[in-house]
Amino acid sequence: MADVPKDLLQEIKRLEELFTVDKAKLKAITKHFISELDKGLSVEGGSIPMNPTWCMAFPTGEEQGTFLALDMGGTNLRVCEIILTDQKSEFDIIQSKYRMPEELKTGESDELWEYIADCLQQFIESHHAGEKTANFHLGFTFSYPATQDFIDHGVLQRWTKGFDIDGVEGKNVVPMLEAAIAKRGVPIKLTALINDTTGTLIASAYTDTKMKIGCIFGTGCNAAYMENCGSIPKLAHMNLPPDTPMAINCEWGAFDNEHKVLPRTPYDIIIDKDSPRPGQQAFEKMIAGLYLGELLRLVLVDLHDNKEVHIFEGQNIDKLRKAYTLDSSFLSLIEEDPFENLSETADLFQNKLSIAPNKSELELIRRLAELIGTRAARLSACGVAAIAKKKDYKTCHVGADGSVFNKYPHFKQRGAVALREILDWPDKKNPKDEDPIEILAAEDGSGVGAALIAALTLKRVKEGNM
Ligand code: BGC
Ligand code: MG
Repeated sequence: MADVPKDLLQEIKRLEELFTVDKAKLKAITKHFISELDKGLSVEGGSIPMNPTWCMAFPTGEEQGTFLALDMGGTNLRVCEIILTDQKSEFDIIQSKYRMPEELKTGESDELWEYIADCLQQFIESHHAGEKTANFHLGFTFSYPATQDFIDHGVLQRWTKGFDIDGVEGKNVVPMLEAAIAKRGVPIKLTALINDTTGTLIASAYTDTKMKIGCIFGTGCNAAYMENCGSIPKLAHMNLPPDTPMAINCEWGAFDNEHKVLPRTPYDIIIDKDSPRPGQQAFEKMIAGLYLGELLRLVLVDLHDNKEVHIFEGQNIDKLRKAYTLDSSFLSLIEEDPFENLSETADLFQNKLSIAPNKSELELIRRLAELIGTRAARLSACGVAAIAKKKDYKTCHVGADGSVFNKYPHFKQRGAVALREILDWPDKKNPKDEDPIEILAAEDGSGVGAALIAALTLKRVKEGNM
């Protein structure tokens, strides 16, 4: 960065200090994280919800049958039909994706359920037209924090990921969807409501028994793992056998809502303040895909408006002023751009924002994207390390899914480096050796995972266990 002007160099240095999380800090965060996981399981509770999911077994690989799965994530709506075949750990899947209209996310509750039921109906009509079928068992992947008293029940604790639909928080969403399905006479029985992380855990364990944690690093961020009922004080009143497994949907996005350890920058504070749910999802807002582009945007606007810093001078930055115009794929492209000329980045700014950055500005933008992407990966590793330490997993696989994990450049490798720093692993003898804990691409949790959990639920009911 030889000829970068002094004011920009100074800014780069300031941003590096703001966004860098060193090893000592990672360890301090992880330590606090473990105590917050414990608190979430206690009777008093804490800010991480640690929701029992009533998914009470790992699959054996012998599960069979045909199931529907409905995936209501943050971006798309997906309907799948999954056939768990008689071959161990094998499945067939057909699926249709429907765009989740942006207006729905902040619209009315009825419109949401009607839209979802329409998609289900369309799916059945296009794949089973004219057939007289028995009811399909549906696994509904509802990827928001929900309190579950049993598996086909889920009271929405709060919307996350920018959703803000009135009349759903504090209510059981199952009857709402069931009513919309019944109105259309679609032959579907909602068998299980699941979280995407639980689905990821179960789907991954179906094909790899070393999988102990399921994570999503996507629009939102979260993890699930298997706990023993005896270690869940808040379920003690139910007198479940202590060694019975219970998948816990951590909802770790809420970690540090009370701002004790996370190194929040002024930009993180703005994101929170301007979100539909200020004070919620402190951890998620620093690492999830929904917010990465917004962080970059806020920093650039701040630099532009700072009279001491000369950036995009004489250019119209109106387009850059619009909140959430940049998504994480914008950052991905910047990070993928060869550093030599950053021409892709220049094109992106030109086409999307009508801004023509000069060479020094391009270098600053690139460094900023690296800082934001690296911080996200390193902080994410604290959550994984915390669960591993809490459960004393010395070696295991972690199944991960989501757009950031799958598409963001260097995310996996940066996360792995951070995990190594936190857990003090000795250097590898051979670069090809596995790390003791590896975060790997998961099986499709919201499709196959939902089907498996529906299958496990039917089995449990048949065996008469709750
Ligand atoms: C939700 C979680 C979900 C995660 C990843 C978060 O915003 O609260 O339930 O698992 O996003 O989709
Ligand atoms: Mg300025």
